[in-house]
Amino acid sequence: MANHLHINDLPPGLTFGDIVAIDSEAMGLHPHRDRLCLVQMSRGDGDCHMVHFPPPGDYSAPNLRAMLADPSVLKLFHFARFDLAVIEHYLGVTCAPVYCTKIASKLVRTFTDRHGLKDLCRDLVGVDISKQQQSSDWGAEELTPEQQAYAASDVLHLHGIKEILDQRLAREGRAELAQACFDFLPHRARLDLAGWDEVDIFHH
Ligand code: MN
Repeated sequence: MANHLHINDLPPGLTFGDIVAIDSEAMGLHPHRDRLCLVQMSRGDGDCHMVHFPPPGDYSAPNLRAMLADPSVLKLFHFARFDLAVIEHYLGVTCAPVYCTKIASKLVRTFTDRHGLKDLCRDLVGVDISKQQQSSDWGAEELTPEQQAYAASDVLHLHGIKEILDQRLAREGRAELAQACFDFLPHRARLDLAGWDEVDIFHH
């Protein structure tokens, strides 16, 4: 288990297999206002690769962008909607195909309204992750070891969570519905960026 910190892009030739777990950290929750600071990735083997964008932010990142846009690699997120909007806005790529553990959880864990990553880690894979660094200053020139460890913990367990959620989706007959939701996610992120972020476009 190791964390690898890269500046501004992935090194050439680094691949993540068929399914890559991804998360991002930004200066806040408004993509038009809040700069993208970090993208974390794992192939599910306990290692995390992080691409840090120190201020002011050079987002050319050709290797990272190629991986995100690669149609043969499934991108696994928790609450993909936000990450997809930030990635689209700063890196200029539509990230697809996508899987979202939060949506899968909402479709099968209907007995609870606790669908946070911390809840899924605890309830599905028995791991207690700390959310202490969530609100730290991700815009710093250098990230602290605590920030890096926190950032890694957000992607290290997504493969295990997906495996269990896939079993539940099959059990409840909702795999197809989940897939339709995942397929819509890049469009949902574009609606957010285009100004429909507070609107349920399907509402009456
Ligand atoms: Mn995170």
